[in-house]
Amino acid sequence: MNSLKRLSFIMVMMIMNMAFTNAQTSIKSDLELKAQLMKMDGKLYLFITDEKDSPYSNKDITASVKLKDVNGKKQKVTLSPFGESAFVINDAVADFKQLVATLKFKSGTNTLIIYATFKNDGNAENRYACSMHPSELEKDAGKCTKCGMALSAKNVTTYQPSKVVRKGM
Ligand SMILES: [Zn+2]
Repeated sequence: MNSLKRLSFIMVMMIMNMAFTNAQTSIKSDLELKAQLMKMDGKLYLFITDEKDSPYSNKDITASVKLKDVNGKKQKVTLSPFGESAFVINDAVADFKQLVATLKFKSGTNTLIIYATFKNDGNAENRYACSMHPSELEKDAGKCTKCGMALSAKNVTTYQPSKVVRKGM
């Protein structure tokens, strides 16, 4: 009888554990946040997007960056919000060897942390920007979605992360 009780207890614990794991997975899949690094006018920016590549609010995120210059020396940088879904990396060297961005997202007592590593292997691309809303970058020419002004072409460098690690939630 004792061992039967113990066995049923273990089974209940296993089922509870499975249910908990499933709940964790479903929350995590809702938050497939991505970070894209961009160089524009000699400055580095971190753009945050969701799983549909739509801009994601920078208000919900605490971001920090660890940067190594071309010689591998650590650079001290700070971040400030840029528009509604990006951060500008202040005091950053335009050319770097490695950049690790840490994004912390808090939802209640849960925290999701994303570490994205970038190497200096960006692609030159064109983006279209509004002079009044510089954070509203579009891939195609047209008008600003905020004020209707014609967008002007800009040469930028975009970087995709070489490695992404997710923790929590
Ligand atoms: Zn505008």
